[in-house]
Amino acid sequence: MSTPSQEDYLEAIWVLTQEKGYARVVDLAERLNISPASASKMVRRLHEAGLLTYERYRGFSFTARGRKTGRLLYARHQILERLLTHLAMGAPEEIHRIVEGIEHHFDVSRLGQIERLVNYIDVHPEWWQAFLDDSP
Ligand code: MN
Repeated sequence: MSTPSQEDYLEAIWVLTQEKGYARVVDLAERLNISPASASKMVRRLHEAGLLTYERYRGFSFTARGRKTGRLLYARHQILERLLTHLAMGAPEEIHRIVEGIEHHFDVSRLGQIERLVNYIDVHPEWWQAFLDDSP
């Protein structure tokens, strides 16, 4: 298994913060299926990168830049999940797994077109159904 990237950490911290109002190293480790020591190491690295504030024994939280990045990374994941779901590419867990593999290759600044497409599909389901029905 590859090491979760900084982006995975930031995305996970965003989700935890949304769910619970805060994120702790133990929650992060559990969510990413890694050891607390690895999670702690990455938290310090993200602190050094100016994305988290971190105080030993007191936990951590987003800086403004970290929060913005976490929100964008989470949005990217959601947009790609919506696209793959529309494409009927598998069960939710399968789609989640695929997105985990591809999301890092999509620059968040270039997601606008994909977001436009999935929004269009939501508003015009009959248009999308015609496309799906036309598939060989
Ligand atoms: Mn993700």
